[in-house]
Amino acid sequence: MVAQYPCLYAAALAIRRSIPLSPRYTFLMARSAIAKEQDILKLPPPRRAPVLTSRRIGIHTSSAGGVQNAAERAWRLGCNTFQIFSSSPRQWAPYELGNAQCAEMSRLRDKYDLKPLVIHVNYLVNLASVTELFLKKSIEAFRGEVERALALCAEYLVLHPGSFRGADREAGLLRTAAAIAAATQRLDLAKANLTILIENTAGAEYSLGSSFEQVAEVLDRLRGLVPIAACIDTCHTHVAGYDIVSETRMTQTLKHLDETVGFKNVRVWHCNDAKAACGSKLDRHQHVGKGSIGLEPFRRLLNDPRLAHAAFIAETPIDEPGDDKRNVETLKKLVKK
Ligand SMILES: [Zn+2]
Ligand SMILES: [Zn+2]
Repeated sequence: MVAQYPCLYAAALAIRRSIPLSPRYTFLMARSAIAKEQDILKLPPPRRAPVLTSRRIGIHTSSAGGVQNAAERAWRLGCNTFQIFSSSPRQWAPYELGNAQCAEMSRLRDKYDLKPLVIHVNYLVNLASVTELFLKKSIEAFRGEVERALALCAEYLVLHPGSFRGADREAGLLRTAAAIAAATQRLDLAKANLTILIENTAGAEYSLGSSFEQVAEVLDRLRGLVPIAACIDTCHTHVAGYDIVSETRMTQTLKHLDETVGFKNVRVWHCNDAKAACGSKLDRHQHVGKGSIGLEPFRRLLNDPRLAHAAFIAETPIDEPGDDKRNVETLKKLVKK
């Protein structure tokens, strides 16, 4: 399949040559997000270890001050899994990442039993781009994401399949699959237990991955080339037009998901409520239980034995200090003992 895209092979080779063996990453940290919230690291540490459930539940956690700080924050927020960015989400330059930081991340994850570690790829990366230069830049940046995920011993790297503007959807899906294959050449993800997760999207114009079939197609094309599975976002699912609100319709939606992507391939659920209506294609996350999805679908997800292997991670807004902790607590309370 990749052989149809010799230009990508050439790009990947050129990129590989330009990547130093042990890269020093520029220090660049987005502080605006954390400035708005009350940083849990600035509060006294909890006196007792948080009460956990039988499910892996976490939240996207700030890496301010260094990625390793996210592990301490996640534990204090009551998580036993978490997600981070390893580069500024809307800038090309990655965060600084040294051996000491990676070692500290692993030490804290062991100490607090925080697993899996999920890394979300920078939003600028578009592996379906038809612009050759932008595609090259995206492949280079994505390879950096994979390298940092390997350095941090992350289990999962979540990627939006991209935008096919300027081409047709099918060609876009092929381009994304080929670009992932090209960007991961000669990196042994399987040995490091790192899996790339294709996330379903809200269905904005030209965006790939708003149907389970499209997610499944990327998975099918990469199977055997690179460890690949899926991340399903509840908000994206809902606004893309799948009904998960009524119990009967949710049963049908889940059946459809199992028949296309397969439950065993859904390793992470992004547990976000939605501000917009079902089918609106508007990607606006809301606090769990406070949006157009409501609490019950999350209760059904968290207690479905067929999904028990997955991690459930919120990417909810922080409107008031403590919203992050409250969303984690809301999810945990839904799990039946
Ligand atoms: Zn998501
Ligand atoms: Zn989203």
